[in-house]
Amino acid sequence: MNVVVACASGLLIVLIVCCACFFVRQNRIIKALKKQNAEFITLCDLIQAPIWFKDKELKLTWVNQFYALMFDKDRSYFLGLTDSDIAPKKLVEGYIRDDRYVLESKNVYRYRENEKAGLWFESVKFPLIGKDGSSYGVGGIAFNITAIKKSENMLHKLVHNDYLTGIPNRLCLSVEAARSLSESDATGQKLALVIVDIRNFSNINKINGHVVGDEILKLTAERIKTALAEYSVLLGRFSGDQFLVVLRNCNDGDVIKSAIAKIQNEIGNPYQIFGGAFAVSVSMGISIFPEHGLDYETLVRNADVALLSAKRASDSHIVTYSEVMGMGMNKRALIENKLSGAVARGEFYLFYQPKICEETGRIKGIEALIRWNSPEFGKLMPDDFIPIAEDSDIIVTISDWVLRTALEQNLVWQEKFGEMYPMAVNLSRRQISKPDFLSKIVNLLEDLNYPPHCLELELRESVLSHADVRILKDFGELREMGVKISVDDFGTGLINITNLKTFPLDCIKIDKSFVSNISKSRENQQIVDAIISLAKTFKLSLIAEGVETGIELDYLKQSGIEDIQGFYFAEPLNVDSMTEYIRRKKNPDF
Ligand code: C2E
Ligand code: CA
Ligand code: CA
Repeated sequence: MNVVVACASGLLIVLIVCCACFFVRQNRIIKALKKQNAEFITLCDLIQAPIWFKDKELKLTWVNQFYALMFDKDRSYFLGLTDSDIAPKKLVEGYIRDDRYVLESKNVYRYRENEKAGLWFESVKFPLIGKDGSSYGVGGIAFNITAIKKSENMLHKLVHNDYLTGIPNRLCLSVEAARSLSESDATGQKLALVIVDIRNFSNINKINGHVVGDEILKLTAERIKTALAEYSVLLGRFSGDQFLVVLRNCNDGDVIKSAIAKIQNEIGNPYQIFGGAFAVSVSMGISIFPEHGLDYETLVRNADVALLSAKRASDSHIVTYSEVMGMGMNKRALIENKLSGAVARGEFYLFYQPKICEETGRIKGIEALIRWNSPEFGKLMPDDFIPIAEDSDIIVTISDWVLRTALEQNLVWQEKFGEMYPMAVNLSRRQISKPDFLSKIVNLLEDLNYPPHCLELELRESVLSHADVRILKDFGELREMGVKISVDDFGTGLINITNLKTFPLDCIKIDKSFVSNISKSRENQQIVDAIISLAKTFKLSLIAEGVETGIELDYLKQSGIEDIQGFYFAEPLNVDSMTEYIRRKKNPDF
């Protein structure tokens, strides 16, 4: 019995001790938790952002001090309240939807909002998850990012807006216009692109100063904006004195007409600036999607072409691209306008065509042929622009560029292949009639340290006919230096024997019109025979141009013509292909 009592009391003691230990431990945990909780609360209260917790019914169970201060209430005020009790009405539905999503999906949800008095918040809502893995509430914190947002907006403005007028700049225009285009494409709506150009703006600037000029630009932007207030438009500053309007929803053609008329009306009223009145007028070039282009670049290019035409027109200063297409004569004016400055803009490049000695298969020389990669008109061949350039001094600038570029390239090839082939360039009449023609060539040769005997100058017969004493003297000097001189397209003009006698010449280039079909055309054979005997008489060498077939080649060979230029051997080649061509000619085994 004693043993039983002793055991029982022993067990009791153990039990009491265990219980005591358990309670001490529990107490410690509770204390620790309380301490943690206090630390957590302290931390939450220190954070300068609203923090809140809600239960499953989305009633608030706790908010931090910042949250309470935002509403100017005591913390206890919020216990048991829902968003319907405290949030602005229009936001409640969204808040409840977000909370439910977080509760059910147990996902964290982030979002930005700016509904609160111009303030921006980035909020994070997160699920409160119990030990059993189910969610028992939602917590949230909202960071005030107004300052960040402001600087983001500022940066966006700086990058996308024009500093002077505050409207989108060219970069922004291209992005937004591309977006409008794909929308128009999807909805089947036409869209018009209008470039508005202030007439004589550089004069206004010159006469009245930049301050007035700037004011005119600002006012013009405002007036276009006002004029188009009721249309779906994008307006931006396109360049110095040009604005670009992207007019959406133009299936009804009258939309474009009325919008244009409104712009004109608005701008037509005199501008009042610093007490003075200024009359401003504009030219407009219009292109329409999809008729005049499917992408922004093409539409801008075509609106620009239309604008050029509008600027030249004496009556209407508004032209659509389709009207330009109808004015064939104006294309010339447009090309001429774009030609000046094309050298400076680096839009020209050279192709090179080899001249081959048929007997040896070796390169006898290379002719430089110009090409123009125009942003407005695309790739143009010399026949499209050289005759236009020749009507003004633009040809001189172009010719100077060709000569230097071709000679520099030839020096590169000499360096690469250890051999130099005569480089031929085409000259024009206006160029050789300039008094400094000779000195320019001499200076260039000296400047590049270029051997004169590796330069060949090609002149059309008509140019020879117009040579005066000074020109003859210049060419005489060039020839004495070793420069070769050739008559190009020989036979196409009136053959003037005196030219062959008096002009210092080395070579005749038989025009391709006599070469083509020579084996069958008796007439061509007679002409070529006559040219051969002329060349013999005046001791000139001969080369046949435009040789395309083996039959032509054979006939020329029979007639004793060895030097050949034409597609049969090679078409004009770009620098890389010509380099490869020379390399293969020098090392046929590779
Ligand atoms: P060109 O001086 O008679 O040049 C030869 C033209 O014939 C080149 O046309 C060449 O591509 C083309 N051609 C060559 N072989 C053949 C062939 O086998 N068949 C056919 N059908 N054509 C061939 P491209 O390059 O269009 O030049 C046309 C003209 O433009 C030139 O005729 C020249 O008068 C002028 N030109 C070219 N580059 C310049 C330049 O830098 N300055 C000046 N002033 N005129 C240039
Ligand atoms: Ca030529
Ligand atoms: Ca020719």
